[in-house]
Amino acid sequence: MNQPTLAEKMRAVRQFIREPYAWPGGYPKTLLFADGQVCCADCAKENYRLIRSDTKDNYRGGWQVEAVQIFWEGPVEFCAHCECPIESAYGDPDSDQDQDQDQDQDNG
Ligand SMILES: [Zn+2]
Repeated sequence: MNQPTLAEKMRAVRQFIREPYAWPGGYPKTLLFADGQVCCADCAKENYRLIRSDTKDNYRGGWQVEAVQIFWEGPVEFCAHCECPIESAYGDPDSDQDQDQDQDQDNG
């Protein structure tokens, strides 16, 4: 397995910023960091310099890019930075239930 080079990774990041959805198909993409967090396109754009320097230096500062992936299926992920939800193309296959759960908690 060849590891992608810095240039390849950053090209993928720039593509992700320009086109957060894969074409054709409109599938959502996510930016995956080395620490397993994901990030939305807006944050990737805002923090492009950080992403670039962390990735270049192999610095685990939270912005080191692992890969840009198409987010096919799975539970909703949340951007590590702005916490906006990132939904997968096909949703969560393990979830049969309505996701409209009330988050009421009784402190008692
Ligand atoms: Zn974000």
